[in-house]
Amino acid sequence: MQDLDPSTTGLIDPFGRAVTYLRVSVTDRCDLRCVYCMAEDMTFLPKKEILTLEELDRLCGAFIALGTDKIRLTGGEPLVRKGVMTLVRSLGARIGAGGLRELTVTTNGTQLTKMAEDLYAAGVRRINVSMDTLDPGVFAAVTRWGKLEQTLDGIFAAKAAGLAVKINAVALKGVNEDEFDRMVAWCGEHGFDLCLIETMPLGDIGGDRTDQYLPLSLVRSRLRKTWTLEDTDYATGGPARYVTVKETGGRIGFITPMTHNFCESCNRVRLTCTGTLFMCLGQDDAAEFRDLLRAPSTDDAVLAQAIREAITRKPKGHDFVIDRRHKRPAVARHMSMTGG
Ligand code: SAM
Ligand code: SF4
Repeated sequence: MQDLDPSTTGLIDPFGRAVTYLRVSVTDRCDLRCVYCMAEDMTFLPKKEILTLEELDRLCGAFIALGTDKIRLTGGEPLVRKGVMTLVRSLGARIGAGGLRELTVTTNGTQLTKMAEDLYAAGVRRINVSMDTLDPGVFAAVTRWGKLEQTLDGIFAAKAAGLAVKINAVALKGVNEDEFDRMVAWCGEHGFDLCLIETMPLGDIGGDRTDQYLPLSLVRSRLRKTWTLEDTDYATGGPARYVTVKETGGRIGFITPMTHNFCESCNRVRLTCTGTLFMCLGQDDAAEFRDLLRAPSTDDAVLAQAIREAITRKPKGHDFVIDRRHKRPAVARHMSMTGG
């Protein structure tokens, strides 16, 4: 039998971190235009630059053979990519001993009324749904093109299908900062975890990011006025630090790239829909896989070697700074490229 112990065959970076988690952005396109993520008039990539679903599947398979045991599909909006369920099913079939431990999806929820049951049937058990506010007007303003009701319907369809739901909310100064008590109560009531995210300076969004930035240290101290937040060891292998809300029994995760360095325990790399592998969300160094995948001479051994080589370049950490003087993003690519 093939030995999948990461210490012998798996991917270990130069800092001794086992890389076992692959996030895959399956499309750069989206049906929404969230203000912190995209400009309204985004130009998307031509089709020939995008990996086919078969190419994505092959590359994911190569990572799994090297010990990757968790894959998250993201985007853009992963569920708007045509035929995406064929990829989900193929990856879902690799869940089990020697393969994936978990297959998850991050989505804006707009397609979930149609797709939640199929996701569950394919082996997905947990999803993250991004919803920054429970106020329909604020939701419309933040997403530019979204309707809160559609996302809520999607969330409840996911719950009904048996999926565990985590709500992702980006903390935005002056936009949703008064709503977190309500969201904690709402998530507690419905059995959803809540994950609060600081805005990260990724990509030109056609506006000023310093206006949006709200440190979660402040959010957390405000929440403490209403809720008893108890520290917990709960971890999902991601960068979030969790607390339990005593009053609801629910959990709140805090993702604080700007105020807290979460890099020491980073176990992940990110693949874009064009076959570019970023070893760190906050750095520009990358490895290109598209040409390699399309070259007839590339067999599985060549692919595996290229992945190993990329992992030797995984940097120690990121260096996010919202540049206040120049108002430039720290990293030029959008979150919708590397998929959050
Ligand atoms: N479309 C899907 C969604 O919205 O969940 C998946 C892709 S989206 C890029 C993944 C996550 O990144 C979302 O939770 C979104 O709120 C978050 N995000 C996007 N841009 C961000 C930014 N500049 N800073 C922090 N989080 C961001
Ligand atoms: Fe689309 Fe997600 Fe970006 Fe919003 S955060 S624009 S839903 S990719």
